[in-house]
Amino acid sequence: MDVYKIYALRYAGPEQSSQALLMWNRDWDHKVQRAYYFWCLLGPQGPVLVDCGVSPERAAQRNLKNYVNPVELLKGLGIKPHEVRHLVLSHLHWDHCGGAGLFPQAQVHLGRAEWDFWSTSPLVGRSIFTILHQPGDLAALTAAQEQGRLHLHTGDAPLAPGLELIAAPGHSPGLMALEARTSQGEAVLASDCGHTFANFAEDWPSIFIFDLPAWLVSMERLRSLAAGPELLFPGHDIRMSEDYPEVAPGVTRLV
Ligand SMILES: [Zn+2]
Repeated sequence: MDVYKIYALRYAGPEQSSQALLMWNRDWDHKVQRAYYFWCLLGPQGPVLVDCGVSPERAAQRNLKNYVNPVELLKGLGIKPHEVRHLVLSHLHWDHCGGAGLFPQAQVHLGRAEWDFWSTSPLVGRSIFTILHQPGDLAALTAAQEQGRLHLHTGDAPLAPGLELIAAPGHSPGLMALEARTSQGEAVLASDCGHTFANFAEDWPSIFIFDLPAWLVSMERLRSLAAGPELLFPGHDIRMSEDYPEVAPGVTRLV
C-alpha cells in the first residue's frame, strides 16, 4: 500500500503578531509567532509539493524575515526542482503560490474556483485583495497552462494512489487541502483553512476569511477526514518547526 512521509519546510519567519490575526478578534494584546511553510510528500509517486514558498524577488518585496529559497530547502531532502512531479497550490495568496516559477516542470494542481476568482474577478484589484495576492504570480501559472501542466479541479479529486485533493473553500474561494495516506493513518495538509492547530481545536477562524459559512463546513470536513487531530496540519503554526524532528536545516518531519 502506498504511504507517504510528510515534511514541513520553513521558508521564512518566525514573525510576531497579535494573536487576533490568527484567532479572529481574540486576545489582541497577546503576541504570537508564526512562520511560512510549504510541504513535501515523499512516497511512491515521487516528490509532491503542497504550496511552494516564494521566489527571492517576492521575498524581498514583502520584506520576509529569515527567508530561504525553497530550492535550497528541498536540497536538504535531496530533491532537485525538476524532480518535483506534482505541485498542489492550496490557494493563490502570495505566500503560497509565489514560488511556482521555481518548479517549471511540475504538474500544477489548483481549485478551479480559486483560479477563476483571481484571474477574472474585477475585485482582485481592490486593496483588501492586493495585500493577499499579487497578479504577477499568475504568470507562472499561465505558462503552466500553455504547457499543459495546469490542472484545475472542481471539488475533490484523486491525485495519485493514497493522495486526494479535498475542496475546502472559506479562507479563500477555492482552497484545496491534500489528504495523504501515511503510516499513522490519513493525514490532511489543510494549509490556511487553519493558520494554527488552535484554529482546528477551537473551531475558530483567523481574520482572513473569504466565506465564513463555507469555512465552517470545510473545517468540520477536514477534521473528519484526518485520522486524528495530530494528523491535521495548519498553514503557519510555528509548532511545525519546534515540535517535530529536524531532518535538515529548516525541514521537519511531520509524519
Ligand atoms: Zn498563508
